[in-house]
Amino acid sequence: MSIDILAIAAHPDDVEQTCGGTLIRMAESGYRTGVLDLTAGDMGTRGSPEQRVEESETAGRHMLLHWRGNLHMPDARLENHLTARLTLAVKIRELRPRVVILPYWEGRHPDHYTASRMGYEACFLAGLRKLDEYSEPHRPFKILYASIYANVPPSFVVDISAQFERRMQALLSYTSQYGDTDQGAGLFPPEAEIRERLGAIARFYGNLIGARYGEPFVVKEAMSVDDIVGLGVRSI
Ligand SMILES: [Zn+2]
Repeated sequence: MSIDILAIAAHPDDVEQTCGGTLIRMAESGYRTGVLDLTAGDMGTRGSPEQRVEESETAGRHMLLHWRGNLHMPDARLENHLTARLTLAVKIRELRPRVVILPYWEGRHPDHYTASRMGYEACFLAGLRKLDEYSEPHRPFKILYASIYANVPPSFVVDISAQFERRMQALLSYTSQYGDTDQGAGLFPPEAEIRERLGAIARFYGNLIGARYGEPFVVKEAMSVDDIVGLGVRSI
């Protein structure tokens, strides 16, 4: 099995909020996309891990994913220890993605920045020949950080105007989290609120590139440009 793009996230429903539109757009362009969720949300107020995984599979179909998996690591107390990193590295060797999308390396939720660090280190480990004798080494060429909740200037923004509604459908597949139910009411905004909030954020980033909806990413390396005449996004 090999895929072109792998998004790694702490919780089911993270990628639907941070980079789902980009994954949909890439799948529409013919790339094979995958998502690996590290936990199944076992500490969540609403729903069970089984339910979350089932919902994530439905969401994955909306996002046109080629593959989705869950490592069932401990939710809300995710730890970047050696066993966790090695497990993730072996999965990266199996899937052989050219591009890996990670959560931004700083954030409010400890699982998010832990997943970011673990993902970065696992990408490095995955390239070591002697890591294990059963799998071939593979180091992803490019690591992108989905920065939508980080409030930092993006390195680039992907226009997801045509994918926004499909991404919303994917997120709303998590009926245990986003359904209009009483359990956890007050803690969880109803569907209309979710739509407005996600729409506003995507509009903000879309506006930066002259598009309706956008998703921001940060890369640690400089971006290379071959044709300055063909550059997009009008200056004035
Ligand atoms: Zn999360």
